[in-house]
Amino acid sequence: MKTLIQGGYVVGFDGKEHEIIKDGVVVFENDRVLFVGKSYVDPVDKKIDARGCLVSPGFIDTHFHSGINASDYLLNDANKLDYFASNYLAHGAPTREGAKHAHLKDVDIGQRFSLIHVLKSGVTTTLEIGGPGAEPERYVAMVDAVGIRCYTGPSYKNVNFFQDREGRLEYDWDDARGSEGLKRAVAFAKNFNGACSGRMGTMLFPGHVDTCTPELLKETRKAAKDIGARVQIHATINLFEFHTVMQRHRCTPIELLQKIGFLDPEVSLSHCIFISGHSWLSYPYGDDLKIIADSGASVAYSPLKYLKLGIVMESFDKYLRSGINMGIGTDTFPKDIISDMRYASLASRVAEKSFTAGHPRDVFNAVTLGGAKLVGRDDLGRLQKGAKADIAIINLKDIAFGAVHDPI
Ligand SMILES: [Zn+2]
Repeated sequence: MKTLIQGGYVVGFDGKEHEIIKDGVVVFENDRVLFVGKSYVDPVDKKIDARGCLVSPGFIDTHFHSGINASDYLLNDANKLDYFASNYLAHGAPTREGAKHAHLKDVDIGQRFSLIHVLKSGVTTTLEIGGPGAEPERYVAMVDAVGIRCYTGPSYKNVNFFQDREGRLEYDWDDARGSEGLKRAVAFAKNFNGACSGRMGTMLFPGHVDTCTPELLKETRKAAKDIGARVQIHATINLFEFHTVMQRHRCTPIELLQKIGFLDPEVSLSHCIFISGHSWLSYPYGDDLKIIADSGASVAYSPLKYLKLGIVMESFDKYLRSGINMGIGTDTFPKDIISDMRYASLASRVAEKSFTAGHPRDVFNAVTLGGAKLVGRDDLGRLQKGAKADIAIINLKDIAFGAVHDPI
């Protein structure tokens, strides 16, 4: 079936960059874009009137965890643990006696709600870290029913961390736990890549630089190459991780990843905040940005998560200038990618102390072209003949927007 969308402002792609086509049209047939331009004369089966709307490529959320953090958010989400935490420790560990596990029914509702919630903000592709958990079939069926495109896989690590009754942190290392986790992740990747009518892609997600042994990380890269999957790891996400790696290996987490041959264009780094030179570290040595840029690895930045903690990336613009491919993820709640574009832009202005930083074009590129590059797809994040018909329509006539001079 051939469908024509009459914009509005259409964000077309000219082969190199996005361009705004005022009063433009997009025509798609099944799941592929057929035409993007000013007018289309051939017959179509269906028309969608999107005059007064922005017709955009669907957004790509490069770091997402479903089913967690859903809370009340009119002004803040004070029920959530990390609202008050400094992120010095990672998220507050459970006690050694174990966390109270939510009932399966609650997990299902939470995950379904999160996926629909992020879809509502215009995200058509999400990278869900650790979504499948213990019940891959249920999870895959849920993603299929929601209709989103999803790159996912169970996450794994060597360490379980606990807090004892005094609140002290304990690392519980187990080599077998890591390799069994990797084995399960590879099995999931093989079984479900291409599921959900091709909307599911699989990736490998080792936990964090400080919770995996270098051996497990090396095995991960080997396994990923064998099955043709990409990899994302949480890296330099808090101060504790930075100093733990420094103490264990006498180098930064990024230098460690480079040393063991982990970094290349098939890898993305979640958050990637505390790199050499960040003002909180007082560590002026080395050049982590250059290492990442030279390796071709991408960064999946989650601005709201860090703003909640009083932390900014230093800075989104600087990473881009260094030549790093940037994606943006929602991670925390609310999972609203449009707000995260605004947060990325504003945080960059604060970090750069310049109102010219955080250009809307750059954050828009990060949630479209940047995300597509991060997952290795040249048919996502753009409206161009032959691209996937993953389209977001935003009603600019809504009272929330007011007058529109330039929609991006
Ligand atoms: Zn995460």
